[in-house]
Amino acid sequence: MQQTKRILAVFLCVCCLALCAAPTAFSADGGIRNVIFMIGDGMGYNHLKLAEEEGFEIFMDDVPDLLGWSRTRSANNKVTDSAAGATALACGVRTNNKMLAVFPEEEKRETLQPRSVTENAILHGMKTGIVTTDYTSGATPAGFSVHVLSRSDAQSITAQQLSGNIDLILGKKEDAAEQSAVEEAGYRYLETRADLAALRVGARAFGQFGSDIWKLDLPAEAPSLAEMCATAVSLLTTKNPKGFFLMVEGAHIDKNADDSKDGLKDYPEKRANVAEAVKTFDNAVRAAVDFAEKDGRTLVIITADHETGNLYPDGEDGRMTFHSASHTSANVPVFVYGARDLFENGAEMDNTDLVNLVAEKLGWEERFPIEDPVGFVAEPPAPVQETPQSNGNKPVSFLLRLWQWICDFFKRLFG
Ligand SMILES: [Zn+2]
Repeated sequence: MQQTKRILAVFLCVCCLALCAAPTAFSADGGIRNVIFMIGDGMGYNHLKLAEEEGFEIFMDDVPDLLGWSRTRSANNKVTDSAAGATALACGVRTNNKMLAVFPEEEKRETLQPRSVTENAILHGMKTGIVTTDYTSGATPAGFSVHVLSRSDAQSITAQQLSGNIDLILGKKEDAAEQSAVEEAGYRYLETRADLAALRVGARAFGQFGSDIWKLDLPAEAPSLAEMCATAVSLLTTKNPKGFFLMVEGAHIDKNADDSKDGLKDYPEKRANVAEAVKTFDNAVRAAVDFAEKDGRTLVIITADHETGNLYPDGEDGRMTFHSASHTSANVPVFVYGARDLFENGAEMDNTDLVNLVAEKLGWEERFPIEDPVGFVAEPPAPVQETPQSNGNKPVSFLLRLWQWICDFFKRLFG
């Protein structure tokens, strides 16, 4: 009898291990279910070094799981602008500068539009969010949320954002976004940090913050980028078994480094502003990685749409110096937290490749570019009605039944 008990105890242990190791209903390849995709607009690797020269501690390149390099260019120029850059990152398509998530070929774009990673996430039932220090209609947030021929068409960009199904859109106040239109579209209109803090899980929100939210010192009513990122993550992850896709942009690394009026000069003020914008973005990266480490199922990718300023060490003191007044074609870094198998460490890839790495990690069958008819709006799938006979959650109910059977068996055996 002792021998039989021992065998049964071993059997029980094996069953427990099998149950623990069994995949959950939403587990994809590697178990990743959330993606935080972060874009330091205009951020080359040397912008991080410049920020360190200016006295800031920079977290993002401390201990990433991987560091690779993205080749940035657009369809019609080896130097991309932010609109085509965002299109490449969001849709896996190289389009012409100034265009947002539309095909570069005129004939093709009359009938077809490329699907963005945000739209595909919505179609998979994931929650989605866009967070930026830029205007909500800025080129980078727009590339992840709309399909518009020109980045300067703020009216169309805002209208499409409001008629889509993105849960959270947070950024700087945009004149094209009237409070009444925002509320009519079913979004809460947020103007202050307190509004953001009061937001409930499940509410859709359109944040229109009035201040220069890229700065480190902010007025009490303005949320920081890190705060917006952390709040978005917390709202998108709560009561959400299907995961989320969140794009976070630090727009002002580019804006402060792109100085076409003043030419190639390297003003102390310009250096200080670029460094501050890098640090603001880095604080948001920290918030994202902190969440990912606790969560264990979140992938954080940090990259840029292009380099700005042709920054490299120069002069007598060997400090980082600007050699261009605008965007360049230099490769930009791709930092990864939360996965060691996304690519080979040090790998060089096209900016259009990143979205497919996301797709692969989330276990999506689709690969980008994906063509949709013009005007297509991604809708979340209808919720599955659970009935007593429903077997919509087969693996879980099978494991539960097995567990109950094992418990009953041992109760009968031991008493
Ligand atoms: Zn840019």
